[in-house]
Amino acid sequence: MKAELLALCQRIETCEDCDLARTRTKAVPGEGPDDAEIMFIGEGPGYYEDRSGRPFVGQAGKLLERLLASIGMRREQVYITNVVKCRPPENRDPLREEIEACDKYLTRQIELIDPLLIVTLGRYSMAKFLPGESISRIHGQPRVIGRRTVLPFFHPAAALHQQRFMQQVEQDFKKIPEVLAQARERRAREAAQPQPETQQTPIQGRLF
Ligand code: URA
Repeated sequence: MKAELLALCQRIETCEDCDLARTRTKAVPGEGPDDAEIMFIGEGPGYYEDRSGRPFVGQAGKLLERLLASIGMRREQVYITNVVKCRPPENRDPLREEIEACDKYLTRQIELIDPLLIVTLGRYSMAKFLPGESISRIHGQPRVIGRRTVLPFFHPAAALHQQRFMQQVEQDFKKIPEVLAQARERRAREAAQPQPETQQTPIQGRLF
């Protein structure tokens, strides 16, 4: 793993920047290849994630694996993380201050992994990229944001509770291969374009 991503994950594991640190068992930084083309971003760890320190290992995780298999992919091929890295008590929704305290980690993970495609699972991760949007209206519709494509999906946990969401999530997953192919083409085109001499790559801020 890239040294800086490893250091970031270690920092998340000992983070005490919000009150979730007091009730968590383990923080859940995320897992997957450090150069993954696709990053899935969920909401926050649940009971089993909190126990194991790994994302999406409970029921929603089993569904995520099945959905990935439906497009010929395995979870080991993608990076999986969450908006908040510690479990909200009783699986309540994360609070604004908790999301804000954790946002620096998610932002840095995206910079370091540099995925082509970000799949947001549920409204909290959608709101990072598409604030003010309604997930019911825009799910399954890819948006190009900067150098990435963002594809908002319903959360798999919603699909586990309501059949109509399951059908939507299953249909939306089928779009991933095509959207990814388009994102690859766009990145290749951008890389082929000559950079103006005055354009400098900004030095990215370091967290530590
Ligand atoms: N739900 C999430 O949003 N994230 C997890 O890691 C598990 C369940």
